[in-house]
Amino acid sequence: MNKLEEFIIENFKIDKKVLEYSEKCFGEIEDKFSEIDKITEYNQLKVLHAMQKNRLSEAHFASTTGYGYNDLGRDTLEQIYADIFHAESALVRPQIISGTHALTVALSGNLRPGDEILSPVGMPYDTLQGVIGIRPEKGSLAEYGITYKQVDLLPDWNFDWDGIKKAISPKTKLVTIQRSKGYEWRQSLSIEKTAELIKFIKGIRSDIICMVDNCYCEFVDYEEPTEVGADMAVGSLIKNPGGGLAPIGGYIVGKEECIENAAYRLTSPGLGKEVGPTLGVNPLLIQGLFNAPQVVNGSLKGAVFLSKLFEGLGFDVTPTPNEKRADIVQAIQLKTEKNVVAFCQGIQKGAPVDSFVTPEPWDMPGYDCKVIMAAGAFVQGSSIELSADAPIKPPYNVYMQGGLSWHHAKIGIIIGLQNMVDKGLIKF
Ligand SMILES: *Cc1c(COP(=O)(O)O)cnc(C)c1O
Repeated sequence: MNKLEEFIIENFKIDKKVLEYSEKCFGEIEDKFSEIDKITEYNQLKVLHAMQKNRLSEAHFASTTGYGYNDLGRDTLEQIYADIFHAESALVRPQIISGTHALTVALSGNLRPGDEILSPVGMPYDTLQGVIGIRPEKGSLAEYGITYKQVDLLPDWNFDWDGIKKAISPKTKLVTIQRSKGYEWRQSLSIEKTAELIKFIKGIRSDIICMVDNCYCEFVDYEEPTEVGADMAVGSLIKNPGGGLAPIGGYIVGKEECIENAAYRLTSPGLGKEVGPTLGVNPLLIQGLFNAPQVVNGSLKGAVFLSKLFEGLGFDVTPTPNEKRADIVQAIQLKTEKNVVAFCQGIQKGAPVDSFVTPEPWDMPGYDCKVIMAAGAFVQGSSIELSADAPIKPPYNVYMQGGLSWHHAKIGIIIGLQNMVDKGLIKF
């Protein structure tokens, strides 16, 4: 036994058999890792180049307060985002609380009473259902006279081209395209599929705004949605592009007009992007962006490893280990509540923060069943850090994502598996 194995067995209480199985799986996916590394290298250079082009300097790390007029760091970071995403403009702010907030700002800034939203990729993410008004909430877009239509994916997860064409009417103002799967069991949308869908919609009417919910997809492939025709791409800084360092924030990138509309909603009509202090967090947003490709790299490797490990144990997984990835989320179908709880509790045990607490399923607001969430994160709720969550209902899917480094993701996943073995749920 080598020094590493000895350390793992002694300190993390991993059975020799579990470790051997993990290493065997790792051996079979190593070639996937070099593909991931190439994409990471490209994205690292893309970020570096944008920082150099915009002459990023120490002066940009200064903090502003109050109105935040002339916050050079903020304006420069926004230009860097715009360049990375090949967009005309960007809104990147600590005043945006989360991905849901960023999407809310993008939608409500660009829609007016009488307009209609179309989702051609099925039901949007749980929190967005409340924002749109699919699930009644105070202040939803529905209350402002904005209507909604949905076209589901076909059973084989392809687009329902006819259905989409029929659903588009003169009222259709904006199409929302969610790439990541949320709590659905479906394929996440690759950049190629996203591009194909946008091209189809623009072919029907070119003035329809194509907005992409890009959560969990940044830096996973060579291109971002705004490089393939999207008018807006939206995401959270406590996911991929914050690189694990951003303590808060969201981004919207895209067409100048769309971004201005969003900014007028985030701050005020007439004020837009001119105001908004960064309150000292700018260095973290900037350095986090610089780290983001590497952090996404670790997350992707962890996702492939989890997929391989559980596929090999006879569970359904999506994506499969060799499938091309569109996001950092790995879904595994664990079949029983006991399996789900044991796996998530194991992930928590492997965390750097709060490793000693035991997560339990609870009635979270906005969900129709109990949910268990494992997250021992430096930033509260950050899901670019190793985390796993699962709605407690058949077929008992667990969604795992994140990992600030591959080596943390790896041991975290092994501890998750070991916890299932300890509970007698899996036998070697
Ligand atoms: C995470 C996520 C969101 C936004 O969630 P927040 O928790 O508000 O950041 C929206 N859409 C998708 C697909 C997501 O994965």
